[in-house]
Amino acid sequence: MQLLEQTDLAQPPYYQPFGRLMKRLFGEPAYKLTIDAGFTCPNIDGSKATGGCTFCDNVSFSPALRSGVTRVSEQLERGKAFYRERFGAGKFLAYFQTFTNTYAPVKKLKALYDEALGVPDVVGMSIGTRPDCIDREKLELIQSYARAGRYIAIEYGMQTMHDETAYRVNRAHTHAETVAAVALTRRHAPDVHLCLHLIAGLPGENEAMIHASINECARLGPDSVKFHHCYVYENTAMAREFERGEFEVLTLEQHVKLAADCIERMPPGVWMQRLVGEVSDSGVVAPVWGVSKMKIYAMISAELKRRGTYQGAKALRFAV
Ligand code: SF4
Repeated sequence: MQLLEQTDLAQPPYYQPFGRLMKRLFGEPAYKLTIDAGFTCPNIDGSKATGGCTFCDNVSFSPALRSGVTRVSEQLERGKAFYRERFGAGKFLAYFQTFTNTYAPVKKLKALYDEALGVPDVVGMSIGTRPDCIDREKLELIQSYARAGRYIAIEYGMQTMHDETAYRVNRAHTHAETVAAVALTRRHAPDVHLCLHLIAGLPGENEAMIHASINECARLGPDSVKFHHCYVYENTAMAREFERGEFEVLTLEQHVKLAADCIERMPPGVWMQRLVGEVSDSGVVAPVWGVSKMKIYAMISAELKRRGTYQGAKALRFAV
């Protein structure tokens, strides 16, 4: 497990924010630069399923719309220039975010990752992928960068521990595959930072189910967690389901409560990398809360303060 820091969790924000890890590792914030490296997804191209997850904005997957994807290094240079001008940023992480970023032969992955890590001031990278798209050979490649001293993270979309929910949103993988991916990663990529993504408020889930997924995520022992709310993006299968009135999205107050519940259930050593999903994109159909992410983070800390609680206060103890 990567470097972890214990702080006084009784102080605001009452949890371990991921930015603190970045400052500790690099002495300053490291800005994540999102890359579209031209990958596809086995849940879209038919190798696992078609149509993709019902919440996935995969309209932009069409070859016509993606023909303008430029080289990874060009995308990174553009991102660097933007953040330099706007925030005076000096250090960056290459974030392979779009679609499934381990879904290619190892030779192709190596060329893309090498290119990203060769860009000046890129101090590490984060690779977003599906738990069923990883194997020993790919992990050994990813581990080789971490062993050489780079900050390297892998982010798996766990989303829920409930297979009936995964089926309903067409994830096309089981929770058992997430458990296996975490174990394989710890075995073959021990120096790689492991992040799990959860989504609160998926169709058909109640509070008890969300709490069960949070506890299961904690049991798996990630280095960091991204806790999103379920949001409905235009022109997706989920948008059509929502228009038919087949499920309701979370209110802001419900999400703030669930995010605080998540923080209480995560052991103190886990970095909280994200506590809310997309709120400002014009393509988001629901929920539309009309508040900034910064305000939501402040509300979550205020909720923890009101409860007199903090990260790990309700963490279960698991046998190792
Ligand atoms: S696994 Fe990711 S990229 Fe693939 S369909 Fe689901 S959300 Fe989209």
